[in-house]
Amino acid sequence: MRYSYEDNGERSLILRGVKRVVLKIGTRLLMDVPGICARERVAQLVNEIALLRSSGIDVIVVTSGAVGAGMQLLGTKRRPSSVALKQALAAIGQCELMTLYETASVQHGFHCAQLLLTAADLQDHGRHSFVSQCLTALLGTGALPVINENDSVCVDEIKVGDNDTLSAMVSSLVRADLTILLTTIDGMRERDEETGELGARLSVVDELDPELLAMAQGTDGNRFSVGGMITKLRAAEMVTRSGEALLIADGYDFKVLRSIFAGDDVGSLFLPSRKVRMHARQRFLAFFAQPRGDLIVDKGAAKAVLNSGKSLLPGGILGLRGVFERGDAVRILDVEREEIGRGFVNFGNMELSLICGAQTGDLAKLLGHAPDAVEAVHRDNLVVFKSLMQK
Ligand code: GLU
Repeated sequence: MRYSYEDNGERSLILRGVKRVVLKIGTRLLMDVPGICARERVAQLVNEIALLRSSGIDVIVVTSGAVGAGMQLLGTKRRPSSVALKQALAAIGQCELMTLYETASVQHGFHCAQLLLTAADLQDHGRHSFVSQCLTALLGTGALPVINENDSVCVDEIKVGDNDTLSAMVSSLVRADLTILLTTIDGMRERDEETGELGARLSVVDELDPELLAMAQGTDGNRFSVGGMITKLRAAEMVTRSGEALLIADGYDFKVLRSIFAGDDVGSLFLPSRKVRMHARQRFLAFFAQPRGDLIVDKGAAKAVLNSGKSLLPGGILGLRGVFERGDAVRILDVEREEIGRGFVNFGNMELSLICGAQTGDLAKLLGHAPDAVEAVHRDNLVVFKSLMQK
């Protein structure tokens, strides 16, 4: 089964183990519900979160709405195209957004805590660990962490770009058992590729594949929203391949959280992948670390890495690209230049270029000294991972 139209016990199986949840709220759910102001919407949401917390579940919120709140405060009709103006609106709106969350939280006897992140905070190993330890400490204090991207200080190249992906990153960081993306649609729907017509809701997705991705649509062009189904599936890919579950559901009525935790068949549930499970270092490699170069490997080495759980030896490397140092992340490409994995490399590019294709016994002679390691990438520092999102 790749997906099914109804739940066959999968929800109760997943829910049984859920202790920690990352909950993402899209802007439209807060700012664009006719007749209900954002203040009221946040109050409704925090009310449901308080219930969840009282049942013993850790909740971390990833909220959109900074730019939207800024637009509302200044009476801006359309999302501006100017980057500087978007940054400014986010700066104005983020204050308002947090005021709403804090006002609602204190009604339930806890405080909320703001974390504004950029991609750079998560890609650097040291900073990554600091964010993680801060979140753990925050949960320990009983505060409600409320995260958004730091839109005011980041532009394209250091931006995560959308909060679906940010939620998946946060989940990976805190090892949330379940990520819930609340949005304006009731889940993923089958889509006829020719007519574009939407069909039945997919209740349970067992394994993401290219065909499912093809069904996903891009941003819907609403004046507030950023992501679309594609960013949600990217999030689902990250979360499920890390070994956890993700659910996309309609958050028009925040009471949907009660239904979700009652095990009702709402939304689309993406099950943890059965093919890939990643431990912390592998998650960092696959989803956060920025590769500094590529190692192109021969067929034998590709097979050893992919199928036999082996390390990558210099002998299997045909060539390399990029400037990297020992300990940097690199991509591992097969002869067709398709990525088959990533790893932390044991040699800088200069040294490695001297020993590409060489037998282990010849390394010392070629390098002029005995190497600390004989593997180019040790198995423990390697993740076999081919993203479905690669073009
Ligand atoms: N960070 C953006 C905001 O708060 C939203 C990004 C998103 O919705 O994906 O306005």
